[in-house]
Amino acid sequence: MNEPRTPVLVVGAGLAGCVLALELAHHGVRSVVLERSARPPRHPELNLVTGRGMELLRRLGLADAVRAEGADPDSPAAVVWSRALGETPVLVTPVPSVNELRRRYAGRTDGAAPVEPYVVLTGAGLTGRLRDAVRENALIDLREGWTFTGLRLEPDRTVATVLDAATRVRHELDAGFLAGCDGAQSTVRRCLGVPLEDAITPSRHCTLTFRSDGLRHPYPELSTIIANGMTLTRRPGDLWTGHLALDCDDADLTDPAVLLWQRFGIRAAEIVGVTPWQEALGVAGTYRRGTAFLVGESAHRFHPPSATVDTCLADAVDLGWKLAAAVTRWGGPHLLGSYEGERRRQAMREREKLSRTLAARHHFGRLAASGATAAQLASVLRQEAPGFDPAGLADAGPRLPAVRLSGGEMLFDLLGPQFTLVDLTPGRDGRSLAAAAVARGIPVAHLPIDDAPLRSEWRSRLVLVRPDHVVAWRSPERPSDWDAVLDVVTGHQREVHVFT
Ligand SMILES: Cc1cc2nc3c(=O)[nH]c(=O)nc-3n(C[C@H](O)[C@H](O)[C@H](O)COP(=O)(O)OP(=O)(O)OC[C@H]3O[C@@H](n4cnc5c(N)ncnc54)[C@H](O)[C@@H]3O)c2cc1C
Repeated sequence: MNEPRTPVLVVGAGLAGCVLALELAHHGVRSVVLERSARPPRHPELNLVTGRGMELLRRLGLADAVRAEGADPDSPAAVVWSRALGETPVLVTPVPSVNELRRRYAGRTDGAAPVEPYVVLTGAGLTGRLRDAVRENALIDLREGWTFTGLRLEPDRTVATVLDAATRVRHELDAGFLAGCDGAQSTVRRCLGVPLEDAITPSRHCTLTFRSDGLRHPYPELSTIIANGMTLTRRPGDLWTGHLALDCDDADLTDPAVLLWQRFGIRAAEIVGVTPWQEALGVAGTYRRGTAFLVGESAHRFHPPSATVDTCLADAVDLGWKLAAAVTRWGGPHLLGSYEGERRRQAMREREKLSRTLAARHHFGRLAASGATAAQLASVLRQEAPGFDPAGLADAGPRLPAVRLSGGEMLFDLLGPQFTLVDLTPGRDGRSLAAAAVARGIPVAHLPIDDAPLRSEWRSRLVLVRPDHVVAWRSPERPSDWDAVLDVVTGHQREVHVFT
């Protein structure tokens, strides 16, 4: 059965698929989203969305809904390294509570802190909220119970084969663009013949969510304890989550409660969830073939996960606004081309960081087993284990400083959905520049700012900001050739960032 062509077909309504569809809708572009599972996700594992991730969701009006699913904002946490559960820790790194960070961020005037603090919530809570927003959006056609099974790439479109589980009818969907947001085992990636290049030999792990009333530690809820080869997180109530490596003896995972007792001496009153996973640090060889793209975990599979949610989220936002620019025809060919350059580079950086984390954990385990002193172990961790960054800004790229204006408003909240030209010139030079862009069909909002402190701090008087808060171009004065600037930032000429 054939349907009229859809501008963008999104495969998978997980985190990446939902955010991509919502980003497209934010720019007025319709999409069809296929989700093979007819039921909402049940993942009980915890996900952390950093401050930067929350900034991206705030643009889409989703920050409050996501935060409503979050853990207690007054609860601080800690990362605790210990030789064994119950032993005096070797190193404790405190993590401030969400509300404490909110207070600290409010006191910053340099724009270097994120607009929102981090949030910790279950994978099901996060995806559930995003899927609700997708369902309510008139520009998104969500089809639950529809499974993508294959595709045919043509020069200017992708034709997807899809099975509707309710009717058992197979459909052919014709799409201007297709985005594979179908997770770590991506069928889209397989159909495109794209290899996942792994940096390590995958090994079997699992995540156990369980209740235990006998297990105690003196740290606040949501603290993470790394001990005996297990990463254990205490959750509200007597719920716990443990990530652990599986031996050959644990092959069938038939009795996780016995595994917890025999390996770690933990008595579980109830096993709530078991998620097997392969330790892997894989990045797709390419993120694009013709009009089909890979997004989120289909493009990079990082287990144990760290800031994976943020990486998936930023992939979806990046591709979303660039696809919207292509569909509405103001984006040039190099703009879509820049998706792979920007996001694959970020995935490689993330992989590098995770490799260092894994190496530090293995080193710690070996030294602890060989009887190293607590001081020696702490020194190794300080040197080798990458720090935890709840702001998520270390790799955020040339992001606009998130300043609060003298009137109290956040600059980020004044930006338009597309490009915004922030104008600090006394003569409002940006007005005619924005008008010239609009006359070329490029959506640029003009944002005059009359803010003395900002003017004294910023050398640039004109700052062109992309939809994802990244500075595309900035200058102390009017450019001599504005058309050339527009050609570059819209991808009609190569290179996406221009600084003068
Ligand atoms: C145990 C565990 C713990 C984690 N902890 C953290 C953490 O602490 N911090 C963090 O940042 N990240 C964490 N993550 C990772 C995080 O959950 C993922 O990064 C994120 O969910 C990936 O989003 P995604 O949309 O790319 O893929 P997914 O969430 O996997 O979504 C893919 C969607 O595609 C659908 N789909 C698949 N195939 C098809 C098909 N053929 N047709 C139609 N639909 C299809 C699936 O049903 C699913 O809904 C964890 C993951 C796991 C498994």
